[in-house]
Amino acid sequence: MKLTVLCDNTTRIDAYYVGEPGVSYYLEDGDARILFDAGYSDVYLRNAEKLGIDLGDITAVALSHGHNDHTGGLVHFPATQRVPLYAHPAVFEPKRFEGEDIGSPIAIEEAAERFELHLSATPVQLTEHLTFLGEIPRESSYESRYAIGERRTEEGWQPDHLPDDTALVWQGKDGLWIITGCSHSGITNITEYAKKVCGDERICGIIGGFHLLKMSRQTEQTVAWLKQLQPKHLRPCHCTCFHARAAIHYAAPVQETCVGDVLEIE
Ligand SMILES: [Zn+2]
Ligand SMILES: [Zn+2]
Repeated sequence: MKLTVLCDNTTRIDAYYVGEPGVSYYLEDGDARILFDAGYSDVYLRNAEKLGIDLGDITAVALSHGHNDHTGGLVHFPATQRVPLYAHPAVFEPKRFEGEDIGSPIAIEEAAERFELHLSATPVQLTEHLTFLGEIPRESSYESRYAIGERRTEEGWQPDHLPDDTALVWQGKDGLWIITGCSHSGITNITEYAKKVCGDERICGIIGGFHLLKMSRQTEQTVAWLKQLQPKHLRPCHCTCFHARAAIHYAAPVQETCVGDVLEIE
């Protein structure tokens, strides 16, 4: 499987891609060409073009959750074909934070017109080795403790614990690769659930946002967990602050992740 970083907060010196605080990865697995998240704007398309990637012929879209730094780019998605879109059923609910709209700019009705919707809270196998996890059980004692703004359900506005937050897992010969958006549900929770879903205890790599925005009990516990885990490839990025990444690096070596990075995953 090949993973190309189309959008992240960070860009590399002398490589003139555009960064923004969002996530978008392009996954090629056999005949499948999957867009995982679409960043905040059209940056993922501009970077894809520069990387020689034609997003006009992708086979599916998958979304990590509904926040606009992951769904904003859907507005610019080329409407050449109506591809399947995989996400949690709550992904298109309106979301707000301190009065500001932070949900998907595309409402579910428009999404249903533009995409073939596959909204699922349970795991969905996207390819032979790649699985969309659906809703993540919240089992760790230190993660996903707080709501982020509010979401509008049929019962009205309520605190948003991001039930829609999910991730992908790729099962290779050396174990599992966890591919996250923001990990609002908790990187430990996601990883433990991926192990259960795949029936595989081996963690080979993790890439994506860990949602560790400052040093906290959650960050310290996550660092301690990673120290035990020692994944061969460890790429916390996007919403993982410098201090958290530095602390993780001392416990388990971290590789930097930037727009344009290409990972060959076996
Ligand atoms: Zn988010
Ligand atoms: Zn994010």
